[in-house]
Formats: sequence, C-alpha cells, structure tokens
Amino acid sequence: MWPPPHHPSSSEVSPIRNLPPGEELRLLVDAVTDYAIFLIDATGHVLTWNEGARRIKRYAPEEIIGRHFSVFYTDEDRESGRPSRLLAEATEHGRVEDEGWRVRSDGTRFWADVVITALRDDDGQPYVFAKVTRDLTERRAAEEQRMALAAEQRGRMAAEEALRVRDRFLSIASHELKTPIARVQIAAESIAHALDTDRLTADRLRASVGRITRATERLGVLVGELLDVSRIDAGGLAIERVPVDLVAVTSEVIERFTDLDDTAQRLRVSGDERVLIIGDPSRLDQVLMNLIDNALKYSTAPSQIGVDVRHSNGSAVIRVTDEGIGLDEADGGSIFSAFGRGDNASHVAGIGLGLFIVRDIVERHGGSVIAESRPDGGSTFTVTLPPGEVDGHA
Ligand code: ADP
Repeated sequence: MWPPPHHPSSSEVSPIRNLPPGEELRLLVDAVTDYAIFLIDATGHVLTWNEGARRIKRYAPEEIIGRHFSVFYTDEDRESGRPSRLLAEATEHGRVEDEGWRVRSDGTRFWADVVITALRDDDGQPYVFAKVTRDLTERRAAEEQRMALAAEQRGRMAAEEALRVRDRFLSIASHELKTPIARVQIAAESIAHALDTDRLTADRLRASVGRITRATERLGVLVGELLDVSRIDAGGLAIERVPVDLVAVTSEVIERFTDLDDTAQRLRVSGDERVLIIGDPSRLDQVLMNLIDNALKYSTAPSQIGVDVRHSNGSAVIRVTDEGIGLDEADGGSIFSAFGRGDNASHVAGIGLGLFIVRDIVERHGGSVIAESRPDGGSTFTVTLPPGEVDGHA
C-alpha cells in the first residue's frame, strides 16, 4: 500500500490536517448525527454535547452544558429515581443499557435506547460517564404498527373462523332440524289421509303419534343444545350449587332410558351407594344423559354399556363405557369442541354439541372430562368432579 499506513504516537500531531492529538476523534463524535454522544460528570452534569445530541434532544450546547442529565427523563422516571439508579448501576457494573421514554427540550417525548459507560480514574473511581442515546421512536412506531397489523390480521382470521363456524352451524342445524320436522309432517299427513279415507285405526294412530312424539323430543333436544351453546358463548351456563347425590341422578337418568324397548338389558350400573357432591342436579343429569345417549348411539345392541359412579382419591368419578365404534385417534380433543364430530360418526345423526356442553358443565363444576378408546374396542368417558363448595364455603 502506498503511502504506507502511519500510526502517530500520542505526542505527535494528527496526520489529518495537522490536528492536535484526539482532535479527529472529537470531530468525529461532533459530526455524528444519529446518536447523542456526550459526557456527564460523576454527579450527572452534562460536560459535552454533539450534533446528534442537539438533533435528538433539541438543546443547543449552551442551553444544556452544566445542567443535570435528569432533565432528559420524564417526571415519573425522575420521581422514581431512575437517573441516579442508572448512574449507580453504571458505576457498579461499568456499563448500563436502558430503553424508555425520554423528553426533548420542547417537552415532546421520544423512545430512547441509552448506554451509559463509566470511565474510571487510576483508583477505579468513575470520574466521568459517556452516554450514547439512540432515538428509536420510528423503529418503535414501526414495531407497534407491525403488531397492530398482526393483531388486526388475527382479528380478521377469528372473524373468518366465526363465519365458517356459523355457516357450518347453519348447515348442520338446518339439516338436523329438518329431519324431525319432516317426520312430524309425514306422520300428521298420514293421520289426516287415514281420516279422510276412513282408514284411521287405533294402531295406525298410535304408531303415528309415537313417531310425532319421538320427533318432537329430538327437536326439543336440538333446540335445547343450540340454546345452551348460545348461553356458553354469551358467558357460560348458570350453575346451581346444592348437595347432589350422583348415584340418585344416575338412577333417574337410567330409568328414562329403560323406558325404551331393548335398552334396559344393556345398561350395567356399578360403584358406590352414595356419591355426594355440591353441584347442579339438572346440569349433571344432562351430562349423564349425553354420555349414556352417546354410548348407546355409537354402539349396537346387545353390547353392554357400563355406568360406574364412585368416590376416588377425594373426587367423584363417573365412568361411562361402551363396546361400540371407539374413538378416532386423529380426532384428538376436537370431539369436545362446538360442532366437533368424529370422522367415524358420519353414519349416526348428530350435530356435535353434546360433548361441548358436557365439558362446559363439568368444567364449571371445577372438574374435567376425558375420552379414551378401549383396547378391546369401544370407548370410555371419564368425568372427575371435586366435592365442591356451596357459594364459596367448603
Ligand atoms: P354428536 O353425537 O351429536 O356428534 P357429541 O358432541 O355428543 O355430538 O359427540 C361428538 C363426537 O364424539 C361424535 O360425533 C363422535 O365422533 C364422538 N363420540 C362421542 N361419544 C362417543 C362414543 N361413545 N363412542 C365413539 N365416539 C363417540
């Protein structure tokens, strides 16, 4: 390289335009405009000021030199002792970095990244601090804008998802509601037709009324589930807290099922004689009703359905087992979500709300519900409920 690099000793003059030693460094610092670079003395008074400091903090050198550096801080920061805390940290560790709001001479704020470095004398005592401040307001604004954009995007995606759920809901609900309505219509028409043609026998009437009753019961369940879901969406189901014997609730539910033709022989009840908890009897009835109804729906006669209610490790445990189609591994927890239906369930009528409601009720009692496939086929639904409290009192 020509001319060869020349490294001046401190006693020499600077090779650049014959400046005194250190002068080019001062000129360099002075010329920096993107960083406020200045010195403060051991007690925090400003000693030097560069172009960047003037630009960022908007003080002329003569306005600020000699003043305490705490003027750059917000009132709250000054009151909480932030400036002196930062100096103390720089003294202890040699350097401190801080990010936060700082105040310009005109009172406006900017978001600053500040590094304070202690320069020590021969005894190791800091005699001066070098302070480098960067104005990150624009970067922070860009970051905030990016975050706002991401939040907006998330909001839009949530709204789109809500629309998808609503569409799915409308298509499932309308399909499921249409079926029992059509059955009622057909049964009513068949009665009317038999009347018109004088062929209305007691048997025919009984069969049609039976169909109407079953269809309206199904309609009642569907409408009830839809109402429950809108209640859950609107903040949750109201849960009563009274002493309940889960075994008694189970017996009542089972009795309702045994009114149906071949179901009586399929249900096997086991467990303790009495399992008392604090809870909502009609909601717990609904939980049992749903689980037993599913067990029947997703298995075929004459396979057995087990309903076991007992105390276990200080909790009440309800276990409903069946020997039916079992659970699809791939469905994971989705069968507990609103309108969540297993791929293996398409042959059975349903709208996928039962387990969603079951989980909400159980969780509102402070409990949990899990679904498992049984190794030899079928599934087990286990509900664990704590003993509970009445209105916050144990
Ligand atoms: P629905 O029965 O109307 O589909 P649920 O919320 O009660 O709604 O059940 C959700 C899904 O969970 C069902 O579609 C089915 O895939 C699965 N499921 C529930 N109970 C059982 C069961 N006993 N055996 C197998 N799968 C079940």
